[in-house]
Amino acid sequence: RQHDSFKMENSAVTVAVRVRPFNAREKAEKALQVIFMNGQETTVQHPDSKQSYSFTYDFSFCSVDEFDPTFASQRTVYETLGKPLLLRAFEGFNTCLFAYGQTGSGKSYTMMGFGEEEGVIPRFCHELFCRLASMENEEVKCHVEMSFFEVYNEKIHDLLVTREEPNQRNMPLRVREHPVHGPYVADLSGWLKLGNKQRATAATGMNDKSSRSHSVFTLVMTQTQFVEGEEHEHSITSRINLVDLAGSERCNSAQTSGDRLREGASINKSLLTLGKVISALSDQALTRKKVFIPYRESVLTWLLKESLGGNSKTAMIATLSPAGSNVEESLSTLRYAQQAR
Ligand code: ADP
Repeated sequence: RQHDSFKMENSAVTVAVRVRPFNAREKAEKALQVIFMNGQETTVQHPDSKQSYSFTYDFSFCSVDEFDPTFASQRTVYETLGKPLLLRAFEGFNTCLFAYGQTGSGKSYTMMGFGEEEGVIPRFCHELFCRLASMENEEVKCHVEMSFFEVYNEKIHDLLVTREEPNQRNMPLRVREHPVHGPYVADLSGWLKLGNKQRATAATGMNDKSSRSHSVFTLVMTQTQFVEGEEHEHSITSRINLVDLAGSERCNSAQTSGDRLREGASINKSLLTLGKVISALSDQALTRKKVFIPYRESVLTWLLKESLGGNSKTAMIATLSPAGSNVEESLSTLRYAQQAR
């Protein structure tokens, strides 16, 4: 126990895994549950070989039985992974949270959520702006900018730029005060909806592109302190990146030709590079020796370079399907998450 908490304090990366409940189709097919959680441990029971594989993470979260000690609601996931990053951001750290996993395993449920089941991104924004509103009369002034873009085929597309208004970017966000619910971010849900919609629009006719692009939601917060009698103000800037990665399923040889092949290769390259970068940073934090970090090998890692290395805090949540039919993908997700830690 002591060893684990020591490692968490000192490791560059916090890693959690989360298994979703069966969907309607899996229930109808009487799918076999192959993922089990106990404490920090996740175990896979292979339906064919009957072998079992165990992995240990900072957190193993299940989603079905709320009396299970490993059960995590949307709120718990935010409190465990999102909130510590928020606190770090206020201290001046750059932060990243990645959701990794095969398509349909719960990445966007975890990051964005829907309706009352808000995910990490809306909860994070809500708390950030509540804190800002409550410190309004202090000596520190805060400025926050938001951007939302996707990386597809090693190219970047802004999700908040519409054809009607092509010049809007890095929108400054305003806080309004609701008479009952308190402070909230004006237009945030509108912006999130717009980004998600644009992601989806680009996907039609392209066989669900959104599962094959990374979406990156970024907040840049600048805290400026004015000291009476001093001429210069002192400011710190923190970048917060909340990233829903492309589906991790390996490109299946039956459907890989031409564009699809290139795309599969570039998704794999950026996921592979991200894994290498995170594990190199982990090693570096553990050994306290300088290690080569291959940021330049993909657009995603290059873009996030400032937020990953140095003065920063990174977390990853790997999402899993519970079903026997996905066991190979789940094992590869668990291995990826393990090497990050
Ligand atoms: P991905 O983004 O990885 O492709 P989604 O987030 O769209 O996957 O999840 C697939 C489906 O499973 C969605 O209908 C989502 O609401 C549901 N789901 C995912 N994770 C959970 C969870 N932890 N609890 C309840 N439902 C979930």
